[in-house]
Amino acid sequence: MRILERLDELAALGDRIGYSPEEDAAHELAAGWFREAGLEVSVDAAGNLLGRVPGGERQVWTGSHLDTVPGAGRFDGTLGVVAGLEAVATLGLPGLGAVVFRDEERGCAGSRGCTARPDAYVELHIEQGPTLLRADAPLGVVTAIVGYVRGHRTFTGTPGHAGTTPMDAREDALVEAAEFVLRAREVARGIDGAVATVGQVTVEPGGTNVIPGRVVVSVDARAPDAGRLDQLAAALAIEEPTRTEPSAMAEEIRAALRGELERLGAPVLELPSGAGHDAGILASAGVPSGMLFVRSLNGGVSHNPAELSSAEDIALALDALTGALRRLAG
Ligand SMILES: [Zn+2]
Repeated sequence: MRILERLDELAALGDRIGYSPEEDAAHELAAGWFREAGLEVSVDAAGNLLGRVPGGERQVWTGSHLDTVPGAGRFDGTLGVVAGLEAVATLGLPGLGAVVFRDEERGCAGSRGCTARPDAYVELHIEQGPTLLRADAPLGVVTAIVGYVRGHRTFTGTPGHAGTTPMDAREDALVEAAEFVLRAREVARGIDGAVATVGQVTVEPGGTNVIPGRVVVSVDARAPDAGRLDQLAAALAIEEPTRTEPSAMAEEIRAALRGELERLGAPVLELPSGAGHDAGILASAGVPSGMLFVRSLNGGVSHNPAELSSAEDIALALDALTGALRRLAG
């Protein structure tokens, strides 16, 4: 399958951090494929690559990104670009476009800097998690890209001698912080679709023989809609929170994708995306957007060289994407 050969060619370029010479090389490779497919190629001020079928009343784009995290797999972003091109080239309908956004992994600089506004955007992407694998479903339709609140919690105790302070006379800030970590797990488990993570812990004074006097933990809390995010953030009492709102996927596009899954006889499963994507940026900017997820194998692992999706699932995803674009371009 040509898609798999092209994924190999991109993987051969190695890790591709946004706006690095390696990402440039990937964009040059893709631009060559776009021209070969007869698309009209342009690059915008943010460096995003667009290949269009000229004309058309409605501008309908599909695509993803070609930059990677360090130590990346070979499917994240790349699959949506290569399969998107295949779908656009197969249909050849005026107004269709294949797009490659720059620098997605570090915060979606490309899609944030993209000033052109299509009438619809559909992104095919690997799930990067185990939901489809567990449900025995090859594909899934994304309902929303989760919003998140990030900040920290501070715990204060009394530093003291680790040998001479009796256990019943201690105010240990790290023990309090540990109780918070466990409570955060329970709070998130109690809200459907929510997750909460403590990823950093700073302990002061930080001596092996000193009772911790002050502990700061990071908190990353995510939920699929604003109501659940409010509930989660309030229960965790996050200090100095920064918030990114959830992005709902457009019903029109979800319906087109569900229709394709039915047509192909695949189970119709809908799920939120716990990871951020360019589709969320476009949705927040008012572009009706949708995403089709492809099952991730190896337990759903991503941002790891063990990232994997099967040729069968990819072929089915291409079929569904092509059909959905045909419905949306009409
Ligand atoms: Zn991605």
